[in-house]
Amino acid sequence: MTNRFFEHKVLEQIPAELSAILTELGLPRFCIRQLRRWIFARKTTSFDKMTDLSKETRKILTEQFGTIFQGKELTHDQSADLTEKLLIEWPDGERVECVLLRDDRNHRTACISTQIGCAMGCLFCASGMDGFVRNLTRGEILEQLLRLNSLLPDHERLTHVVVMGIGEPLLNLDTLLSALDEVTAPDGLNLSVRRVTISTVGIPSGIRKLAESVVCNGKKYKLAVSLHAPNDELRTRIIPQNRFSGIDEILKASDDYFEQTGRRVTFEYILIAGLNDQPEHVRQLVHLLKHRTAIVNLIPLNPVMELNFQTPSAKATARFAGQLESQGIQVKVRFRKGDQIGAACGQLRRIHR
Ligand code: SAH
Repeated sequence: MTNRFFEHKVLEQIPAELSAILTELGLPRFCIRQLRRWIFARKTTSFDKMTDLSKETRKILTEQFGTIFQGKELTHDQSADLTEKLLIEWPDGERVECVLLRDDRNHRTACISTQIGCAMGCLFCASGMDGFVRNLTRGEILEQLLRLNSLLPDHERLTHVVVMGIGEPLLNLDTLLSALDEVTAPDGLNLSVRRVTISTVGIPSGIRKLAESVVCNGKKYKLAVSLHAPNDELRTRIIPQNRFSGIDEILKASDDYFEQTGRRVTFEYILIAGLNDQPEHVRQLVHLLKHRTAIVNLIPLNPVMELNFQTPSAKATARFAGQLESQGIQVKVRFRKGDQIGAACGQLRRIHR
């Protein structure tokens, strides 16, 4: 089976395409409804188990599509804080990681990747250390979600999706949006758009394209922008991509997104000891954001073995947060999860560690 080439892959097709294929195969119209229910609601990974489809139908589906999943789970790590991480290998041998996060508010969050590797080269992040290989496909993005969903017990479902894994989502936006359509579809994963966050390094044209897509599809996903430094000199030093846009352009595009959607943009700010966590940085950050309706999400740096950056102490982090708050900026400190298994922000890779 694995060596056979299948023209169609069930997760790659948008519903209308899949419907057309099923019709061509002579299958009844309701078949797509059943198929989608099995895949998205009942977490079924094999056509054989779709017991309300006739044996003949199941046989046709298997012959046509082979398997639902295309990838192979290479490793599955679990940490004491109940974070789980999967390393998946695709048929071309390329690999990505994705993560399931649990918290005590009953949130079950999938953190998914959008690219194999990353071209952005952020100095503090493990995901781009080996460069960029290719975009993930719609099916590969969906497969991560379905695999993470099926790590949950039967009665539990994913409640949130964060596009914060490997890769720059806005550089694979059309494909990502196609996959996210299934996340919010009532007969898909059925999550509210409010529970889906897309995090970007900050590509103004991509942010505008995302804002435009809201006009067409009405889906006001939450946008998070990785700011990480309050001036261009420092930002370009740690995020090389910044030289193409600059902070000002990114903030303007984010303003457009807010205007278009009415949703406050989150600015992520990694705290790196001695580099971007000084009082002058607070002042500059306040200057950038004080007239904006925004939230700052502070992320104390997660250590990456090869990199020589230090995480500030909890006290220093609290001080930085307090100084921002005292100037009227809304702040959240991101609680670290999954770092024991290399599953925290910026620690995802294409290999198992
Ligand atoms: N490429 C997207 C999504 C990536 S990851 C982006 O740049 O936003 C999600 C967040 O984790 C980003 O804000 C990213 O900058 C941050 N991150 C990367 N490396 C990190 C590290 N070592 N510690 C903490 N956060 C990190």
